[in-house]
Amino acid sequence: MKRMSSLAYHFGIRLRFYPSSKQKKLIKLNYDAQRFVYNSYVGRNRSSYHAKCYFLVKQSKAMPFAFSILNRYETKLAETVVANNELLAKPKNIRDAYSFLRIKEIDSLALANAIQNYHKAWNNYRKIGYGIPTFHKKRSDWAYQTNCQYIKQDEAYLNNGTAKFIDAKHVKLPKLGVVRIAGLRKLIKERLFKHIPTRIGTVTLKKTAEDQFYLSMQSGSDLAFVKELPKTQNQIGIDLNLDNFLTNSNGAMVANPHFYRQAEKKLAHAQRVLSRRQRRAKKARRNLRTAKNYQKQRLIVAKLHDRIRRQREDFLQVLSTALIKNHDLVVAEELRSKNLLKNHALSQAISDVGWRKFLNMLAYKGRLYGKEFITIDPKYTTQRCHACGTIMGHNGYKKLKLKDREWTCPICHTYHIRDWNAAVNILQKGLGSWQNPKKQAT
Ligand SMILES: [Zn+2]
Repeated sequence: MKRMSSLAYHFGIRLRFYPSSKQKKLIKLNYDAQRFVYNSYVGRNRSSYHAKCYFLVKQSKAMPFAFSILNRYETKLAETVVANNELLAKPKNIRDAYSFLRIKEIDSLALANAIQNYHKAWNNYRKIGYGIPTFHKKRSDWAYQTNCQYIKQDEAYLNNGTAKFIDAKHVKLPKLGVVRIAGLRKLIKERLFKHIPTRIGTVTLKKTAEDQFYLSMQSGSDLAFVKELPKTQNQIGIDLNLDNFLTNSNGAMVANPHFYRQAEKKLAHAQRVLSRRQRRAKKARRNLRTAKNYQKQRLIVAKLHDRIRRQREDFLQVLSTALIKNHDLVVAEELRSKNLLKNHALSQAISDVGWRKFLNMLAYKGRLYGKEFITIDPKYTTQRCHACGTIMGHNGYKKLKLKDREWTCPICHTYHIRDWNAAVNILQKGLGSWQNPKKQAT
């Protein structure tokens, strides 16, 4: 049987499900266990690090003859480091060390996933240079991952793994047993009933802050999940900007729907009520988790946030599908959000519009429907005249400023709308029809 990564097509399945109260408790238990494991890794790694720093400082300050003499505190420190290293050496060690992690209700794969996520977080940090793994707080939304395993089967289907579809209404999950699910997508239903080989990979169980339960499954197959869309012979470049959501190379604009700003007043009010109730509960020394009015209000706030999230999601889905459907090639600029996000005023707007999510959608929809989506380096895309290739800011031409929304090329006298021109440049760069700007300039 093929591994998940060697399958040709991948597809995400997301389903709402309705656990019983007993199953809810099991989900909470596994979420807590997963968090415990993750936090143990973070904590032990931290204490080892601090010990190391302590000894380094001591070494540099102390007199040479004092090296070998450790006081009681230091001996203890050195022992902790040894214990930490031992525990972190092998994934199974943590289960051996804590007996409560070995009870049968806890999914061992959930613990393994916690360790994997911890290592992933470190790898991410090494790649992008920020975001050291920190402790996971206890939250009102829960999630944990497990895996669907196929033991001794020749071929993987939607209904023969450890996580499997029983019919269109029920799924069996490891440790939880059978849960009822809300409607299944036609595409998945067909796969299930026609018995098309499909492998299920990671399964994530989630409870949202507004107390709804969702199941996400990765699935993979060698047979395409959807038919490729017909070719249209159209190509398009898109420029993402803050005035509007995007401008395309045909000059059309899509306005920026400020969902967050629209709901801001309502949200601000609800949040004020929430923090007031929090203060009151604290004053009366009540636990927040059992403070009824606080919890009621928390749900209201969560629902408001959820509504904004859904509106945004829907907007991005519709727009990205339309772009992929109507074009064979879509070109966009790479986002360098780390630089952009340094500017705090911009960061709110950027997180509101969700460009990164949008580009991810374009990428996977392009793959799914047999279309091409590429991103290019945004260098000079704004400053270049798409008609003659002159680059503003070079050879004595004044660089365009952010406020220059419209301009005329000093060489070929073409009148440009800034974002439209940028979108055309992006498309041209994607098609490889840019000449070297330096050669062009001389
Ligand atoms: Zn020009």
